[in-house]
Amino acid sequence: MKRRNSKEEKRSYPMFEGDRKLRTLVENLPGIVFRCENDSDRTMQFISNECRWITGYWPEEFCRTGGIRWASLIHPMDKDDVWNTVEIALAKNEKFQLKYRIIDKEGKIHWISETGVAVEKKEGTAFLEGYMQDITAQIMGGNINVIKERALDEVRNGIVIANAKPKQFPIIYVNKAFEKITGYTSEEVIGKNYNFLQSDECQQQEIQIIREALSTQSSCHVEIHNYKKDGTLFWNELSITPIRDLHGETSHFIVIQNDITERKNLELLRKAKNDVLEMIIKKKPLPDIFDRIQDALEQQMRIGTVAICLYDDIAQAIKRVSGNKIHPTIAKAMDQILGTSDACPCIRAIRSKKKESITDILEEPSWSKHQATLIEAGIKSIGSTPILDADDNIVGALSIFYPDGFLSSPQKEDLVDEMAGLVGLAIEQDKIRKRLQMNQERLEARSKGLEKQVELRNKDLEQILKELRATNFELNVQIADAQNARKRAEIQEAMLLAIAQKFPRGAIILVNEQMQISFVEGSELKFLQKQIRSNQELSINNLDGFSIKSKSLLLTCIKQTLRGKHLSFEIEYQKRNYIVNTTPLFIENGKASLALLVLFNISDRKRNEGKMLQNLIKERELSELKTQFISTASHEFRAPLSVILSSASLIEKLNNPDKGERRLVHLEKIKSNVRQLVNILNDFLSVTKLDEGETKASPEYFDLLHFSRSLIEKLKIGKKKEQSIILECEKAELVTFLDPKLMHLVLSNLLNNAIKYSDEDQPILLKIEDNELHVKLWVIDHGIGIPEDDQKHLFQRFFRAKNSVNIAGTGLGLHIVKMYVELMGGKIGFESKENHGSTFKLEFPKKHYTNEKNTGNRRS
Ligand code: ADP
Repeated sequence: MKRRNSKEEKRSYPMFEGDRKLRTLVENLPGIVFRCENDSDRTMQFISNECRWITGYWPEEFCRTGGIRWASLIHPMDKDDVWNTVEIALAKNEKFQLKYRIIDKEGKIHWISETGVAVEKKEGTAFLEGYMQDITAQIMGGNINVIKERALDEVRNGIVIANAKPKQFPIIYVNKAFEKITGYTSEEVIGKNYNFLQSDECQQQEIQIIREALSTQSSCHVEIHNYKKDGTLFWNELSITPIRDLHGETSHFIVIQNDITERKNLELLRKAKNDVLEMIIKKKPLPDIFDRIQDALEQQMRIGTVAICLYDDIAQAIKRVSGNKIHPTIAKAMDQILGTSDACPCIRAIRSKKKESITDILEEPSWSKHQATLIEAGIKSIGSTPILDADDNIVGALSIFYPDGFLSSPQKEDLVDEMAGLVGLAIEQDKIRKRLQMNQERLEARSKGLEKQVELRNKDLEQILKELRATNFELNVQIADAQNARKRAEIQEAMLLAIAQKFPRGAIILVNEQMQISFVEGSELKFLQKQIRSNQELSINNLDGFSIKSKSLLLTCIKQTLRGKHLSFEIEYQKRNYIVNTTPLFIENGKASLALLVLFNISDRKRNEGKMLQNLIKERELSELKTQFISTASHEFRAPLSVILSSASLIEKLNNPDKGERRLVHLEKIKSNVRQLVNILNDFLSVTKLDEGETKASPEYFDLLHFSRSLIEKLKIGKKKEQSIILECEKAELVTFLDPKLMHLVLSNLLNNAIKYSDEDQPILLKIEDNELHVKLWVIDHGIGIPEDDQKHLFQRFFRAKNSVNIAGTGLGLHIVKMYVELMGGKIGFESKENHGSTFKLEFPKKHYTNEKNTGNRRS
């Protein structure tokens, strides 16, 4: 770049035309003097010659119409800063100072320092006028002090340098960060002692540490409460380091500070929360917990004045439970507001379970009477947060009286919410604690009661123990006795069981009230024993094998036994006869729980009894027979014997030969009566033989007609006058297989009766018939007949009809006839009518009868 020449000096500058000295000055200044339009292009109206050496462009190139715009040279990264800085300065009507980069004609970067002002023309148009200087050499060329100063300005930490020599340690330097943190400008603090940040708060322990460090000229590191210019508190982290000179003496103190309010607040908050939680866990009293919460919010967080109010659900009233340190006048006003006004956010928060607030109490008419008090206390707004328990029920509200307007922030809101939550937790925990305490007290009271009871019981037990000890010996003796008795009982039981099991010809049974058999033993009824041993249920009601009579007798007798009776009776069970003896067992109030039945099999005895009875009847019959025989014999024998005797005596007297005929008549009488006697005797013998079973039929083949004819012939001797016996048969011969002796006796008996019980001139008919199966015979007479009443007894031995008492007879004939007919397998019947006659009918099977037991003779 060339230096200026004379030609250039001759250039005319209308602006400075009238002032040559000024022109010379402008041209010789080491920087650019300029006037440009106040637009984004910064169009130059005037620019001094120095622009050639800085930008490479001539002034004319800037000032001509459509020439180079100054803004086009500004480094793109600095353009906005340049524009904004000028704007702010113009707005404040102040001069502006700029440091920025431009790019020259050759593309090189220059650092420009620009100072300027806005100049207004009459028309109201503004121009910028000022001075620019190329400071590239200073910035780039190693002016280290400038760099250091810039570096110090760039750091975030506040840096303060104080002179250590003067007693007050005056500040000689503060960086930009310090200004930013504290709000104080460099000019305001230079020359002051650093402790002005502490305001009037000098109680902190940290201040002593700093004083100590300064007095001993040593370094220290503290965290301390400080105040900004606007009065807000901040937490300041300080490092003080002494700087020593060549002689080793402290020439300066360097203070490096940092605003750690946010971190500190978080720490304090965390600590406060931990403290509160610990207090809750350690079951500290609720007022202490509330005080701690209030302290955290008021003292540490500096949020405002805090009031924790609890809501009594039953009384529907709220009560402030914190804020003892609040001035009484304010507290009274607070209580009036909190408890009485619907406009109170505390009441609204309790009702709505939401956050409620009043931004400015002055705008609340219902608060008018408290406004003065609250404003005096520096309270402007109120915010209330509901306090809820674990079940989301409202238990109160946490209200904050903010000092200067409702300056809430999300962090503070969160903090208040958390603290309200902790209050809720503390109340919940307190409730649980109280409930537990109550339960514990109840338990203690109860356990005391129990202890008393146990004590009394123990005394009782001791007494009982004493008595027990006293009776122990007695008991041992009793136990020994009981053991002996048990042994004896066991032996007896075994013996009884053995006896029961071996019970001869019978059984022992136990039956309960439900008629169930619980025990059966003995030599009889083994099948019942099996069922009982296999645990089958057996009821008397379900037992088969009884006759209806026996079963009902048994049931009745068991019932009576259970009522306490001892019985003995006979039953028939499964075709056996038993005698049963019953005994009631385990009687109580006249009722037995078991009936003992002892059964004894008497079947054999019963059978023998039958036989004996039969024998007895037979004997009786025999005796009757003998009696009847004797009486009959004595009667029936007397007549023929007297005839025989008288005829014999007459024969003795009839010795003369002329009396021979009369002797024959008497002899014939004797013979006839002897035959009668023989017949009577034969009848008796026949009955005896039949009774003794000695008579057997000996059948053989013979012609019944021939047999009958010869019999009739024989009987003619005994028949009465004019009596005729007629044989009637359609056949000439009729061979039968019968016993002729028995048949002889049968027919002769029937025909003799017909003769005997008929009049002299009455005919008698013997009728014989046969067919393939039978031979039938009828003996028919027309005699006295048999009275109807007597007919049913006709075949009984010794029976005689009442109309025949005057006719000789024994009553044995028909009985014998019936027996003989039956021995031959035949049947006998009769029909008779008194005074008209009788018909006796015989019927024999034609077939060979096979009644072997009655047969003494068999056909080969
Ligand atoms: P008896 O003739 O010796 O008395 P029977 O045994 O032969 O004994 O007869 C029994 C009774 O039957 C007779 O006493 C009589 O009363 C009656 N009886 C028997 N046969 C006849 C008859 N043919 N007519 C009427 N009565 C008769």
